[in-house]
Amino acid sequence: MKRLTFEPEHEQFRDTVIRFMQSEVAPHVERFRHQGMVDRELFLKAGEQGLLCTWADEKYGGAGIDDFRYEQIIIEENMRHGDIGFYINLHNDLVAPYITKLGTDAQKARWMPGIVRGETILAVAMTEPSTGSDLASMKTRADCRGDHWVLNGAKTFISNGVLADLVVVAARTDLESRHGLGLFVVERGMPGFERGRRLEKIGLKSQDTAELFFDNVKVPKENVLGEANKGFGYLARFLAQERLVASIGFMATAQTAFDLTLQFVKERRAFGKPIGAFQNTRFKMASLRAELDVAQAFVDQCVLLLNTGALNAEDAAAAKLITSELEGRVMDECVQLHGGAGYMDEHRISRMYTDARVSRIFAGTSEIMREIIGRSLGLDERTLT
Ligand SMILES: Cc1cc2nc3c(=O)[nH]c(=O)nc-3n(C[C@H](O)[C@H](O)[C@H](O)COP(=O)(O)OP(=O)(O)OC[C@H]3O[C@@H](n4cnc5c(N)ncnc54)[C@H](O)[C@@H]3O)c2cc1C
Repeated sequence: MKRLTFEPEHEQFRDTVIRFMQSEVAPHVERFRHQGMVDRELFLKAGEQGLLCTWADEKYGGAGIDDFRYEQIIIEENMRHGDIGFYINLHNDLVAPYITKLGTDAQKARWMPGIVRGETILAVAMTEPSTGSDLASMKTRADCRGDHWVLNGAKTFISNGVLADLVVVAARTDLESRHGLGLFVVERGMPGFERGRRLEKIGLKSQDTAELFFDNVKVPKENVLGEANKGFGYLARFLAQERLVASIGFMATAQTAFDLTLQFVKERRAFGKPIGAFQNTRFKMASLRAELDVAQAFVDQCVLLLNTGALNAEDAAAAKLITSELEGRVMDECVQLHGGAGYMDEHRISRMYTDARVSRIFAGTSEIMREIIGRSLGLDERTLT
């Protein structure tokens, strides 16, 4: 289905992004997979091309473009032509906004130029060994000591965990209140801040995912984002954008898998004809095409809502739920249509299949998305009697 949300200038920008992904990322995917992460120079190159935080203020080196469609294009073309392990969207759209929306002028002036140039790579650390969905149960603590805070605890499953120079860490600041959390910017090299293992995963082989440890890390007050006991509300506020960003990526990988498979079923022959000639193949592909078009229209609409500040938590949760579940179905059908080739590592579809399994888990599981949507309908076990 023709997408109506992009103007000619967006498509011009898309061409630039495609060229960057094809020349700077795609040729290195195999190496990235073996080293378990992308090269940090990739962020520098993306910075040189103006692909980091297009929305950032010009005084910090950004383009000051207040239109999320440009970020959407970067995510889509990284998924299609670059590499899912290049977590540019985490840097641009999930973590940097914490600094620009919650940071003081001094904090922005200190960190944003390096972030936009790609010298400073970002991560966000919420999940802990004992808690993920239930963020209010986190145990990492920050204790106030006058002009600084002392951070103790452990985080796990942190994307860009090894590469990151700045990590936005959520920690408990008020032991009396479940929601008493703060957000602390922990910098590479701070004494007591250690990285643990780079975690091995069934997919996302080129994306670095790590454990982080905080042992009496002295964090100056200048590194607290916003108010030190309002972190829970801040996290909730940013999650809608995070879930839409995830959905944009899921749609791009699902569309790519569909296109690869359409090509494959036209070429692969069985019983004297292309497998695409079988009614089963045609019906499967037709159903996927229809579902992809419907979901894409919803995601594009959500991007426009985000542009106007009107994207709510329920719509973002719906986008994340529908697109991650659809992506999973698309990958499964596409592997099936590839036959044995679909199970072989050398075929991109096999990797896309394992990469996609996490989509229903991270950035909030499908079950949590259903909870958010269900509660918006007034179906809340905490209040319904
Ligand atoms: C590759 C990868 C990258 C990640 N990157 C990051 C990152 O950069 N930063 C970060 O902070 N975190 C990151 N995460 C963590 C991720 O967000 C969590 O794994 C996710 O939120 C789920 O939390 P959990 O693993 O603790 O599962 P749990 O919360 O223990 O959930 C286990 C199961 O119980 C279900 N469940 C839990 N609560 C409910 C409920 N109320 N109702 C019904 N079912 C429920 C869940 O849906 C799930 O099926 C990453 C994870 C992965 C796998």
